Amino acid sequence: MHKTIGILGGMSPESTAEYYQHITHTYTERFGDYGYPPIIIYSVSFQPYVDWPLQDRWDLVAQGLSDGARKLEAAGADFILIATNTMHLVFDEVQASVKVPMLSLLDAAGEAVRARDMQTVGLLGTKFTMEKSFYQDALSKRGITVLVPDADDRSVVNDVIYNELVAGRIRAESRAGFVAIINRLAARGAQGIILGCTEIPLLVSEADAGIPLFNTTTIHADAALNYALEA
Ligand code: GLU
Repeated sequence: MHKTIGILGGMSPESTAEYYQHITHTYTERFGDYGYPPIIIYSVSFQPYVDWPLQDRWDLVAQGLSDGARKLEAAGADFILIATNTMHLVFDEVQASVKVPMLSLLDAAGEAVRARDMQTVGLLGTKFTMEKSFYQDALSKRGITVLVPDADDRSVVNDVIYNELVAGRIRAESRAGFVAIINRLAARGAQGIILGCTEIPLLVSEADAGIPLFNTTTIHADAALNYALEA
């Protein structure tokens, strides 16, 4: 019996859909049939999760996501994923609100970087992900140094995420801008780049970037599938 996966999603729907498709498609590629684990998605209304971080109301973010996690638990999820990098800022509070385990994206990303034997990586994400210390702390525990873009580049990345990618808008100009930012991180010593926002893989691929990229959406979704299949 597979475990039932609970996805706390909608942040944004563009990437939540990627989790769902990746888990189901990967199962079928690996095993040839359609016996994927059951998946329950709780898709939040996204606007408050855009507004609260801007108001520094992470307490409300934690409360809202804890409510969502409890709904997933009550609906029968055996474990829960928060399907966004940014909201891992309140991972511990949300985990404390439920009995079932939660699978951290930061742990999965850290493992993926270690598996490639890299010591220094660049990080792209929302300004919260790039500027608060939770991501760098999680990776530094694994001996990984995280480089973030300079302030101008961080604004570009953050604006593209919230003004374009979460609405499903993919623009060639933005892709070119991201590739230039990735090149600057590589010139500073990044051996690979963590796409630390679950929408960025919709915009840039390794073929565009010419440097190893860590797609946190598929890394986290793969970790969920493997955990669901474990006895
Ligand atoms: N999906 C994004 C992330 O992985 C950003 C959206 C959000 O959660 O604010 O960080």
